[in-house]
Amino acid sequence: MKKKLGILGYPLEHSLSPVMHNRALEALNMDHISYEKIETDYYDLQKAIERIKDEYLGVNVTIPYKEKIMPWMDEISNDARAAGAVNTILIKDNRFIGTNTDGMGYVQSLIEQGISLDDKKVLILGAGGAARGLASSLIKAQVACVDIASRKRTKIKMLLDILEAIGSPSSKGMDLKNMMQKDLSTYDLIINATPVGMMPHQDECLSLPYETLNEKSILSDLVYRPLDTQFLKQGRKQGATVINGLGMLLHQGAASFEFWLGCKPPLDVMRQALLEATGEEV
Ligand code: NAP
Repeated sequence: MKKKLGILGYPLEHSLSPVMHNRALEALNMDHISYEKIETDYYDLQKAIERIKDEYLGVNVTIPYKEKIMPWMDEISNDARAAGAVNTILIKDNRFIGTNTDGMGYVQSLIEQGISLDDKKVLILGAGGAARGLASSLIKAQVACVDIASRKRTKIKMLLDILEAIGSPSSKGMDLKNMMQKDLSTYDLIINATPVGMMPHQDECLSLPYETLNEKSILSDLVYRPLDTQFLKQGRKQGATVINGLGMLLHQGAASFEFWLGCKPPLDVMRQALLEATGEEV
């Protein structure tokens, strides 16, 4: 059996996946398997993919390759097809089997916080790989609607097409620039799926009418470095419930682990490893 897992992306300097997965492997006495960074720029992608096929039993895929990697898949799951993006690959019999655990990881992280998605009105800020990963899982979780606010029309349109194909034809797309005129309290859950506010730009925040939020609002940030972003701080000031990106990181990682190895990883060990690595309290 091959003994390597890893994460393919660029840059990977700040990735917390190795520490999370290696601690889980160790706790299960599977430390003959190791999880490593496969930091690869675009020019070396083909070579890295060949090496992964030869040497690895599974990998995660992150920015900027979640969509670009799709043509190399021999088989893809419905979740990856719906998202148009792969974040997890199992290498079996020299074949790449791709799936996407971002959406299920996200939904699981909300359930863990006691938040039901049933009938919620959702606004996603951003229309990149992560937003696409979330869309189908949110629809499956029976939300009332998912609207999108982002910068580029083409990406908004691509995401609206995905939403229409999975049963949400009335989703609306908006330009992020025009959000200052909106009333955010018309949404129950607002998700930051952009990297705005991520280290080393932790003082930055999307321009939004935060004063229209209230104590019924839920603000969720996919960014997990820092855990407490400016976006979440703005929400907390208005009495909103806030959720950081650590739970999604944990649960998407746990789902990948199970996809590769066929067993559930120890969630508490993984969570502890992440908290130690971020050096923050939740
Ligand atoms: P991506 O594919 O690069 O998409 C980023 C999106 O954010 C795009 O719509 C982009 O718009 C928009 N954006 C970028 N900079 C912006 C700015 N300054 N102002 C407004 N919009 C901006 O990235 P991704 O994979 O979706 O990841 C997004 C974030 O989620 C990252 O911070 C990532 O670390 C985080 N994430 C977290 C987890 C987790 O487990 N917690 C999992 C996946 C991703 P344009 O297309 O116009 O550039």
